[in-house]
Amino acid sequence: MKQSETDSNTPISEEANKAKQGPMTDTKSSNEAKGDEWPSSASDLKNVRSLTGNQTSEEEKNSEKKPAGESLLEKFFNDQLKDIYYAEQQLLKAIPKLEEAATTEELKEAFSDHLHQTQKHVKRLEKVFKLLGKKPEGKKCEAIEGLTKEAETIIKETKEGSMTRDAAIIIAAQKVEHYEIATYGGLVQLAITMELDEISDILDTTLMEEEDTDLQLTDIAEGFINIEAQDETNYSWLQEKGQEEFA
Ligand code: FE
Ligand code: FE
Repeated sequence: MKQSETDSNTPISEEANKAKQGPMTDTKSSNEAKGDEWPSSASDLKNVRSLTGNQTSEEEKNSEKKPAGESLLEKFFNDQLKDIYYAEQQLLKAIPKLEEAATTEELKEAFSDHLHQTQKHVKRLEKVFKLLGKKPEGKKCEAIEGLTKEAETIIKETKEGSMTRDAAIIIAAQKVEHYEIATYGGLVQLAITMELDEISDILDTTLMEEEDTDLQLTDIAEGFINIEAQDETNYSWLQEKGQEEFA
């Protein structure tokens, strides 16, 4: 959250701001005074809970084991876990194809690393299911079906060994990462709301890895791939293949 120009860091304006906003926003003001964003991570939100006195008792903490009386939100949460469990398993099959199709060693290595992380993501989800007293189960995720299909089309439509292929594959892979970030981000927030602290921490670990992968892919693209791809022409590609359809 951005501070307004009048909301400077001087003690006087802080006090004035607190008085204006009332006690409900004290936690937020103190975070802003420290220059922090409004909390978004699992640990940030837990800190807010403790600052606002909204602490979980030992009994509440053990609610992760509580099986009875599933709420609508819990049902939705479980469905989303199944969705991302299915998605991660599809990615175990899709990432090696991206790695094989990539032109540069940098991109191949990034996919190889992320494949290992994805194996961990599957294991973490299995732990989450266990903590909830449920069997790991996937539910067909239409989004990941579409995103992986799009990546396959991109491979078919770009020249093998070209930088353009890497530039295109990176964008396809980032669409997948963004889908995972949205899902894990939402699940972490829901787990915090439901006070499933251990589960929110596990999911947050994966969320951070997905975010790092997204940033790493941007770095690879911007390093040299996009620039070199800009110099590749349709002419040289088709000429090299000796295709007459080029006119
Ligand atoms: Fe993942
Ligand atoms: Fe991922």
